[in-house]
Formats: sequence, C-alpha cells, structure tokens
Amino acid sequence: MKKSLVVHITVMVIAVVLGSGLASYLMMQQSEISVNRDKLSKAPLGGFNKFASDVQWMLFINYAGGVDCVEKAEAEEIYNRLNDILANDPDLEIAYNIGGMMISNADPVKSADIFMRGANNPNLKSSWQIPFSAGFVLDRYVTDQQDPERLKKAEDMFRLAASRAGDSAPYITSALLKTRAKRILQRGKWNSIPVVNEEHALLCTLFDEWRKGGGSEDGVNPQQTTDPANNIPDIKARLLKAAQDAKASDPANKNILATLAKVMKVVSEDQHLCGNCLTPYSAGDKFCSQCGAKVAVYSVCPKCNAVIKGKFCSQCGNTDKVK
Ligand SMILES: [Zn+2]
Ligand SMILES: [Zn+2]
Repeated sequence: MKKSLVVHITVMVIAVVLGSGLASYLMMQQSEISVNRDKLSKAPLGGFNKFASDVQWMLFINYAGGVDCVEKAEAEEIYNRLNDILANDPDLEIAYNIGGMMISNADPVKSADIFMRGANNPNLKSSWQIPFSAGFVLDRYVTDQQDPERLKKAEDMFRLAASRAGDSAPYITSALLKTRAKRILQRGKWNSIPVVNEEHALLCTLFDEWRKGGGSEDGVNPQQTTDPANNIPDIKARLLKAAQDAKASDPANKNILATLAKVMKVVSEDQHLCGNCLTPYSAGDKFCSQCGAKVAVYSVCPKCNAVIKGKFCSQCGNTDKVK
C-alpha cells in the first residue's frame, strides 16, 4: 500500500471521530440553551415555529372572543388549540395563563394539565402565577375521583409558587398550608395520632413546616434553609395561633392534647403561655387576660412580689433569685 494512501485514510478516520465528538458536544450545548427543543412541534415550519404560534394565538383570541359560555365541547376545542400553540412555542406564558383559566370550570383536569406544564417549563421559572393557578385549580375544582393525587400535586404547585414569589404574595403560603392540612386530614393520622378536625390538621401541618425549616421539638430556632419553599414566614406566630385554635376547637380532646404536648416546647420557648387558652401573659400576671384562668406567676420579687425589671428589685432592693 502506498504511504500517502495510509496517511489519507488515517486523516479521514481521525476527522470522523473528531467530527462526531464535536457534533454530540454541540448537541449538548444546544439543549442547554434551548431546553424546550424536544417539546417543539416536528411540523416542517423551517424554524418559523414562533411565527406560527403567534398566528395561532391571534386566531385563538379571535375564537375565544366568540365563545359565550365554555362547556365541555368548547373546553375540548380550546385545549386542542392550546396544544397546537404550545407545540410551536412552549414558552408563550400568556397561553398558559389565559388558556388554563378559560377551561378551569368546564374541564379542570385539562386546565390543571396546561398550568402544570407551564409551571414545569424551566424557561418560565420566574412566574409564580402559573404554579399558583395550577395549585388553585387542583385544590378547588379537580375532584378526588378525577385525580386521587390532586392534593399532593396542588401542594407541590403551591410550594413551587411560594418559592418563586418570596414574600410578595402571602396568600400563597396560606393556600399551601391549607392544602397540606387537607392532605393530613384525608390521611387521618399524623405521627400515629388520629387527626380530629381542620384546626388539628393545620396545627400538625405547621409543626411539620417548623421541623422542615430546621426547627426541632426542643425549641431550637430553625436555621434558614437554602430552599425558600421550606421557609414559612412568621412560622412561630402561626404555630402559636394554630395551637390556640386547635385547643379552642375541642379543649379536652386527647388527640389534640397529644399534639399540643409536642408543640408546646417550641411555642413557649421565649414566652409564658396560659395553660388554658395558650395566650401569652406578662411578668407578674396572676390571671390570664384572655380567659381569666389562674396562671403561674413569674419574674416577681420573692420578698415584696413586685415585678422584677433588672438585677435588683426596684421596690425593696432585694437581690435574691427571682421566681
Ligand atoms: Zn387563658
Ligand atoms: Zn422586692
């Protein structure tokens, strides 16, 4: 064999190997930049998918304007049109928002599907409205018969919305907690304690969230976790309120009392609470200002019973240990 031929073949083989390596590298780069590539329509539009979706969206608005009342048939048509639009432009945020909302009553399952797809689109991760709407539809309109997993999905969606919204939309947190409580009530048990009512379920929910945020039963303050979905604002105040409501809902219920026993260390860590209604009371108080029950007096001078304000009793000068 001629030497030049060997060189030629060698060069060609190396070129093919390098070329295929480069191709797979570029493919990877491309899918990083265009995360929705696999979701795009395969219709031969020569790259004009975005333009096609704009036209389809205009036609959609035109169609939607002529629909008086969205019933099952209209919802089906709207859903199909939305699928076509989103196949050409999966990042069209308004299509998820308006389309999902239009069919939320007539076909909540399809509506939730649209919203969840938008919520899980990485290019739309700055939107908290889409996951919030998904959670709302799953929680309010979808039934357990239609989707037994609806409350779990709703909770996940609200959690996603909460992590995106930060402090700007406090009602997302409320929605999240309520949905979580519904799940606990549906399950019927929490830490092997039977859950008796909504107030009880909400208390269990908040205690779970407290622990998720890094808190422990010994009352250790929660560390700020990196995941904002696990940081419920004012968790301690919410926990106390839930404890009060649960106690008031059924004061002698042993299951509620068993849950309260776990929660008390946390909520009474830096304050004294009335044993009857769990309202905080001040140094020197003998009775609860909320329910009139007798409370254990604290921080008073053992000699003259004046409230201690510092190291010494300001009334009699006593320096003994205070109660
Ligand atoms: Zn009280
Ligand atoms: Zn004194």
